[in-house]
Amino acid sequence: MVDYFQLEASLSEEEKNFRGRVRKFVDEECMSLIAAHFDSGAFPMEVIPRMAEMGLFGVHVEGYGCTKRSHTVYGLICQELGRCDSGLRAMFSVQNSLVMYPIFAFGSEEQKGRWLPRMARGDVVGCFGLSEPDFGSDPSGMRTRAVKQENHYVLNGTKMWITNGSVAQVALVWAKMDDEIRGFLVEAGTPGFQTTPVQRKFSYRTSPTSLLILKDCILPEESLLLGAKGLKSVLSCLNYARYGVACSALGSAIACYEVAEAFARKREVFEKPIASYQLVQEKLVQMVLEITKAQLLTHHLGRFLDQRKARPPQISMVKLNNVREAMKIARTARDILGARGILADHHIIRHLCDLEAMSTLEGTESIHTLIIGQDLTGISAFH
Ligand SMILES: Cc1cc2nc3c(=O)[nH]c(=O)nc-3n(C[C@H](O)[C@H](O)[C@H](O)COP(=O)(O)OP(=O)(O)OC[C@H]3O[C@@H](n4cnc5c(N)ncnc54)[C@H](O)[C@@H]3O)c2cc1C
Repeated sequence: MVDYFQLEASLSEEEKNFRGRVRKFVDEECMSLIAAHFDSGAFPMEVIPRMAEMGLFGVHVEGYGCTKRSHTVYGLICQELGRCDSGLRAMFSVQNSLVMYPIFAFGSEEQKGRWLPRMARGDVVGCFGLSEPDFGSDPSGMRTRAVKQENHYVLNGTKMWITNGSVAQVALVWAKMDDEIRGFLVEAGTPGFQTTPVQRKFSYRTSPTSLLILKDCILPEESLLLGAKGLKSVLSCLNYARYGVACSALGSAIACYEVAEAFARKREVFEKPIASYQLVQEKLVQMVLEITKAQLLTHHLGRFLDQRKARPPQISMVKLNNVREAMKIARTARDILGARGILADHHIIRHLCDLEAMSTLEGTESIHTLIIGQDLTGISAFH
């Protein structure tokens, strides 16, 4: 595995062991499945109980059947899963950062006891419904509304691009109530709540992406996450998920580099391995240079998060950098493989397609640029 500056030495034994178990799981149980699932556009549901067995669900939660792990470990898991497939990583991140974390941080004891142990066991999958057809980068404009009526709430609206939507047993749906954004736990099967898979995607093909439709959907009082109020609560969940995307992109970049490097050593053109040509070596060097910079940045961010020092614009910077550089690395790797680079069996084209979505989800490159720009200048350029 690429580790030019021996970052391995700065990991604790526990971190290395946990990462090692996930790496083995990815190599032995996921890699052989993934290309076929990408072809068919389906998530390998059989890995969910295995992920649960390994303690991969509930890593931001203490108690309720979960074991809290450091942000560094969370990042290492995302990197390993992302090395295989972004859809796999998305299943992990959404479950942990976007559903279990908000239930733990903002929910009542009853909500935590009801959902978290089942989510930790993988018996319940969750999804996070924030984006809408007309409001992605600017969720504050959302049209989904909740109205309080006697002892229940009535929700109306449409959420779009929701990861896990059609396979989830519980959806965390964000809606405006009295002009304030609030979070509601909506159980699959609730009358007035429907999910429809988004079809014909060329990216994130293994990940179930869905539309959530709420039409006069009546929810009991206990479905409101009492502690979640306003965009601030939403963004606190997104911070962890954005870090997860950054780590996943790094995993994709490493996977693409390793395939390209091995191929370059073997492939002979003009009677010599292509790795012996200076132009090819230059490409490999540029790839490792960017991977190394991303590794250092990502590792530092993980430690910063663990020390509660990380600020959201710093997370934006790492997300922006890692996805942008991983896209360039995946493209270069595709080029090194020549025609074979477009075959699913070599995995690179899959990563390249997925990285296109990753540059948009959890905040587009432009939105993260605006966040950093505002941090540097003190001036918001959003509007
Ligand atoms: C595979 C996938 C999975 C997803 N999963 C989830 C999920 O689980 N839950 C969820 O809630 N959402 C999810 N999303 C939605 C994702 O968060 C949004 O797609 C993203 O926030 C961008 O919103 P949008 O697609 O509506 O683009 P828009 O907001 O319409 O943006 C379009 C373009 O305009 C640019 N732009 C916008 N505002 C500005 C500005 N002020 N200045 C300059 N440029 C600007 C953007 O950068 C972009 O290039 C997912 C998306 C994808 C593709």
